[in-house]
Amino acid sequence: MTPFLDQNFLLQSTTAQDLYHHHAATQPIIDYHCHLDPKLVAEDHRFSSITELWLGGDHYKWRAMRTNGVDERFITGDASDWEKFQAWAATVPYCFRNPLYHWTHLELKTAFGIDKRLNPDTAREIYDTCNDRLQHDLRFSARGLMRHYNVEVVCTTDDPVDDLRYHSAYAEEIVNRKTSNCQMTKMLPAWRPDKAMAVENADAWRAYVTKLGNVADIDIRTFSDFIDALQRRHDFFHARGCRLSDHGLEEFYSEPYSDTEIERIFGQLINGGSADAEEVRKFKSAMLYIFAVQDYASGWVQQYHYGAMRNNNSRMFSSIGPDTGYDSIGQWQTANSMSRFLDLLDSEGHLAKTILYNLNPADNEMVATMLGNFQDGSVAGKIQWGSGWWFLDQKDGMERQLNALSVLGLLSRFVGMLTDSRSFLSYPRHEYFRRVLCNLIGNDVEQGLIPFIGYEKQRVRQMVEDISYNNAKHYFNVDCKM
Ligand SMILES: [Zn+2]
Repeated sequence: MTPFLDQNFLLQSTTAQDLYHHHAATQPIIDYHCHLDPKLVAEDHRFSSITELWLGGDHYKWRAMRTNGVDERFITGDASDWEKFQAWAATVPYCFRNPLYHWTHLELKTAFGIDKRLNPDTAREIYDTCNDRLQHDLRFSARGLMRHYNVEVVCTTDDPVDDLRYHSAYAEEIVNRKTSNCQMTKMLPAWRPDKAMAVENADAWRAYVTKLGNVADIDIRTFSDFIDALQRRHDFFHARGCRLSDHGLEEFYSEPYSDTEIERIFGQLINGGSADAEEVRKFKSAMLYIFAVQDYASGWVQQYHYGAMRNNNSRMFSSIGPDTGYDSIGQWQTANSMSRFLDLLDSEGHLAKTILYNLNPADNEMVATMLGNFQDGSVAGKIQWGSGWWFLDQKDGMERQLNALSVLGLLSRFVGMLTDSRSFLSYPRHEYFRRVLCNLIGNDVEQGLIPFIGYEKQRVRQMVEDISYNNAKHYFNVDCKM
């Protein structure tokens, strides 16, 4: 019997073990899309307890606890930190075969050096050990954890109206400390302009436009003022090191529209009116196009996360709000609109480097083949298929993504893993991904499907190092020395 979570966890062959230990594990991490709070990095936050770190905002765990029959009081309610942790510890042994079981123990092992399994018998000891380290050991602060996991660069997710004060303060600190040899993780902002096109809720959108006008110092009256204000903020982000955008979409929007129509819809909205379903789609189509052109002009990478159906439980939404574990995989017909959107940009010469992330695994092969339509030879892997995301960010989801990408594209050019996480303890997901990757490649080598001799032996090893680190470094053109 193979021991649980030993050093060769998920690595079923000696080739896989060699590839992982000598070529993947040693690479730094470029976490090019995450939702870490930049304030916690700038202030080098100390966590008060493992409950804050683990259960403060992790809706994956909340869903598992609800499914396991835990009362909401012990999830998002007013129970104490210890009571919440206890409720989670009692749930963990019911998580066999759910990725949470692996995440939990990888995090305990790689961050805290704890080899025990979490269950009701070990809960108190693990709780006390983790809390003691979090409160008294500097290596467990926000920055300490990033250093521990060898994180070279993180890209956060920021709204265009954000003043990026924490990014600026942190960047200044790096300059002042003259840490030229990458001792501190580089933190860069990323542009997420979703609210600027969320015209389905006209009141919230108008309040947002007012904020945007204030930070951009433009009195927004026309559509052209609106775009000027966004461009100013785009330039502001660029000056602070931003090189990526990210868009959260239900589906791609590529309705035909005319400039006159968009100006009319904008006028209607800004003057207190609303937009009907068709106008909303036209407006979103125009905004997606304009955002993409802005990104191309600045040499950024654009990312699209699409396909989530959010806030399905209206009772819980009105009680505890969004991002609390009531989202699931949506079902939209996307191939036509995605193709039209990318084709318009390509034919007009505005197609930036692009990463597409689908949430519905039924779209895997569709997206994997879409990439090839728009690779133009200017950059290796210009159009990327993003790593398994959210519900697909687990062994089975990663393997399916890697397999489809391998047979329908070029796995060698893949920019690899990202955490997409709000937690400073999520970095072992890179380790998990690298183990899954090395295992797949190792198995192919063992079966004689990939040569592992001479030139090709070097290529296989290089491929592992590239997907773990080098491809992302070159693609995003970011490193800790920027
Ligand atoms: Zn995200």
